[in-house]
Amino acid sequence: MLKVDRSLLEKFFYRLVETPGITGTEMENRSTEAVIECFKEMQYFQQYPHHLALFPIKEDILNRKVVTAMVKGSNSNKTVMMIGHTDVVDVNNFGKYSELAFKPEDLMRKVDPAFFADEARKDFLSGEWIFGRGVMDMRCGVAAAMALLEAASRYPQKLNGNLLFVAVPDEENNSLGMISATDHLIELAREHDLDYVACIDGEPFFPKYPGDDQKYIYEGTLGKFVLMAYCTGKGTHGGDPLAGLNANLIISELTRRIELNMDLADSFDGEYFYPPTNLKQSDTKEVYDITTPESAYAYYNFLTANKSPAEFFEQVRELARDALEASFEIQRSSEKTYLDLSGRKGSKKNWTARVFSYSELVEEAQRTGGKEFVDHMEACRTKWRKESDLDQRSLALKFVRETNSFCNSQEPKVILLYVPSYYPHVRPRQDTEKGAQAAKVIRVTCDYAQDEFGENISVERFFPGLCDLSFVCLQNADDVTGDIAPNMPNWGFSFSLPLENMEKLDLPVMNIGPYGKDAHKKSERLHKDFSFRIYPALLAYAVDQLLGET
Ligand SMILES: [Zn+2]
Repeated sequence: MLKVDRSLLEKFFYRLVETPGITGTEMENRSTEAVIECFKEMQYFQQYPHHLALFPIKEDILNRKVVTAMVKGSNSNKTVMMIGHTDVVDVNNFGKYSELAFKPEDLMRKVDPAFFADEARKDFLSGEWIFGRGVMDMRCGVAAAMALLEAASRYPQKLNGNLLFVAVPDEENNSLGMISATDHLIELAREHDLDYVACIDGEPFFPKYPGDDQKYIYEGTLGKFVLMAYCTGKGTHGGDPLAGLNANLIISELTRRIELNMDLADSFDGEYFYPPTNLKQSDTKEVYDITTPESAYAYYNFLTANKSPAEFFEQVRELARDALEASFEIQRSSEKTYLDLSGRKGSKKNWTARVFSYSELVEEAQRTGGKEFVDHMEACRTKWRKESDLDQRSLALKFVRETNSFCNSQEPKVILLYVPSYYPHVRPRQDTEKGAQAAKVIRVTCDYAQDEFGENISVERFFPGLCDLSFVCLQNADDVTGDIAPNMPNWGFSFSLPLENMEKLDLPVMNIGPYGKDAHKKSERLHKDFSFRIYPALLAYAVDQLLGET
């Protein structure tokens, strides 16, 4: 049976924590190098250097790379894939201690416990936890996978199949690492005749609510998509506000209808998930003047476990119509009251509430603008291609505004579209042989945790934190090709998903991770005993079970 060397795991862990691979920066490459160095120190990879590989992310201005390391066993081509991300989020919230965020042992010695509130302070003083950036998310998961590879590499002939670890950058940002890794995973499978049986991520689990000390393994992952609404009103002089319709009013009415609306929360087989929330809202004015905003936008984060994004899109379409009607009504009733009170005359506005999807808007622009529209957009694309640091959401907004300028009707309207990023959900499934085996392995791993360590582990269907497991299968291909792609302006330009690869991989997923709290916060911490002693044993057991006996 595979057995992880705890001291080696801890050594890898501290080495990784000390390389500050902040997501979206060149520093990510230092973490990747640290991973490579750890593997190069293993005798196995000195003997088989070609089992360790580096793949650059295509056209990445930061030159980030994916690492794959494989121990090839014998007797079988079954291959367990483990994945982990090498980036961490920034340390701004550590304030005056930000220098110590990547030095957990110094941090534990030097920080005033009062820096942490309540439960975090109690944990800090207990000595059972290690604090620092990345300790839970996810240096420990990466270190455990690496240490497990080392364990397998000591006796490869005893390994019934192969063990592959994929270390990816950019998970905390756009998941470009995992998205681009799928190409290499398919190529590796072809080259080495690998039969992937499951993909295991090592993201940490965390309490579901304050005081929850349950341990979890996940057999699927939640999905997410971001829906943008762009609305136009009628700009007017601020001294004559009743003559127009403020775009900020429309977008606010819409946000009020979407924010935390439980009708827009997904559920699956009796389990309920969080409702959507707004991530940004703004008008499009760039400078001060006394004109009311002509247009405004907002975007919202949606979680999915079961429903397709298209279903939510249609629900939001109704809400957008409502938001427009409500805005018209506010304008009309204020105008009427004003005219009545002042004894003046005015004309009633006859607006109709019009809501477009992005693809409908493009159709209208094509109808009215014809070739001029097509040429104009091509020129825009050429220009935008050079602005590689443009935020994806800002880019989507540019697409919408340019397209909308070709539409004849400049009446108030709302346009709905998807913007990156998009993580398809992965529901656990037992209707395939591999899916059924993965489900069984999760159950026996929980039994093992109980028998061996007295740990009661609960199996949850969805990892709630969003992760790269979203990209090793595709359960809703039609949604993506039929709905997301045509309604996401960035699709095929600055963003896309490797749909073919995802369908080809079609892997059952699981997340077996260490135990932590407060990921991304200054009180991010890892439970040492569970994470260094119990978790690696569970991971090793699950891998053994997936590969089966020799
Ligand atoms: Zn993570």
